[in-house]
Amino acid sequence: MLSLLDHSELAPIVDRIDRGERLGEEDAVRLFATRDLNALGALADRANRRRNGMRASYIVNRYINYSNYCILSCQFCAFSRKRRDADGFELSIDQMVEKARQALSLGITELHIVGGLHPSLPFSHYTGFLRALKALDSRLQLKCFTAIEILHLAWLAKKSVRDTLQELKDAGLESLTGGGAEIFRKEIRQKIARGKESAEEYLDVHRTWHGLGGRSTCTMLYGHLESHADRVHHLSLLRGLQDETGGFTGFIPLPYQPENNGIPVRHAPTGAEQLRTLAVARLFLDNFDHVTAYWIGMGMKLAQIGLSYGADDLHGTIVEEHIFHMAGAQSPQLQTEQALVRAIREAGRTPVQRNTFYEPIRTWDSDPSQASGQGRLVSETGQAISGT
Ligand code: SF4
Repeated sequence: MLSLLDHSELAPIVDRIDRGERLGEEDAVRLFATRDLNALGALADRANRRRNGMRASYIVNRYINYSNYCILSCQFCAFSRKRRDADGFELSIDQMVEKARQALSLGITELHIVGGLHPSLPFSHYTGFLRALKALDSRLQLKCFTAIEILHLAWLAKKSVRDTLQELKDAGLESLTGGGAEIFRKEIRQKIARGKESAEEYLDVHRTWHGLGGRSTCTMLYGHLESHADRVHHLSLLRGLQDETGGFTGFIPLPYQPENNGIPVRHAPTGAEQLRTLAVARLFLDNFDHVTAYWIGMGMKLAQIGLSYGADDLHGTIVEEHIFHMAGAQSPQLQTEQALVRAIREAGRTPVQRNTFYEPIRTWDSDPSQASGQGRLVSETGQAISGT
């Protein structure tokens, strides 16, 4: 593998990495510009293997969008609706509990819950659904709300962000989601998400949550109007906060979806661009343990290849996804656990079921001859929730 790198235009950067030097923003822009995609992938794969070995993870989870009503109108968003729109929706707490109850029979360990910035639901509604879902099964991990939703809830509750997060934590919140980051550079953020809170506000919510002992993921929406330098600026701010708090569990790059929105870009980023972004993220975010190849946005086939370009996680079973599909994603609504295990095995990795915090629950054998089935369970180290 290293001969591929020795003869690459990336050789000077390889030398610097080998000397233990941290990549600067200029290095990362140079990595984005390389035409030697295979060498970039090999370099990112080497960095990933040093950290995660041959393991690649997935989570058995379910998404719930509690509502798509939103007071904002981000230009890139195909999900949000106003009250006057016929296809707006809002779930009652009972409906959310029923969706969760059904998903528990699939063995989910996590509910991933986000929605729009709802114009009128009271703060007690949010603490109410957290408590009701936790009461269903106390082992179910609740990963909820973007930093932008948290700012909205703090405004609703007329409390500080810290007090708002503490109340949500007391009600059962275990992790924040990474959504709402979009792209941090102000000039681009204005063009794709006018009116949305700033990068500093996004980062400050995560900083406060980490200060309360919480963990979270983070994201970057890419492939629209931003440049490679804008992506690197975004990664640099995330790396800086991670240096400060260590509270991010993983990074999830989100490829832009072009349909049903107001951005004048008609194509999702190409496969090469998606792999390049995964690889540069893996190399630049040297203080992150995990990078996800998000199959909903990439499609399963490319996400599987992403496991050789620096990613060590495929995300989850998901069950019901609205946000990417309303923007034109062609991927299916769900993956079975068997399909995720098979994809990881065929990529030459050892499948590991993880929990919300990327801790292993179950490890499967990596025998590719088992590619069509679930295969053999090698070890069980965490708490799986099976059929209730
Ligand atoms: S991206 Fe989020 S905040 Fe923006 S319009 Fe859509 S739902 Fe609302």
